[in-house]
Amino acid sequence: MAGSDFFIKRLETDDKWMNDAACRGLSSMFFPPPAERPQAREQRESMAREVCSSCEVQTACKEFARNHHEYGFWGGESEEQRHQAGFHLIAPIGIRSNSR
Ligand code: SF4
Repeated sequence: MAGSDFFIKRLETDDKWMNDAACRGLSSMFFPPPAERPQAREQRESMAREVCSSCEVQTACKEFARNHHEYGFWGGESEEQRHQAGFHLIAPIGIRSNSR
């Protein structure tokens, strides 16, 4: 196998909606730091949810995250909420790894 075959190529997707994301520059609000405690997660996700509530691309974002098994907070939805809606993470950890 040639060296370049080892690189994983990102799938082509229609992600132009990301240009209008209200969360641009706010990644730390949407993705957890290592070893985040539950109370801190609740506060961080509450702030993220507030940003999402006024985002004009929320529907496209939620659909993208669900279909691509994304980690973090997307489209007004946490990982937990996507999991409960039947859109499981590819490599779940913690309590979600036992609840498929
Ligand atoms: S819905 Fe939320 S996570 Fe998605 S692009 Fe908008 S602000 Fe970002």
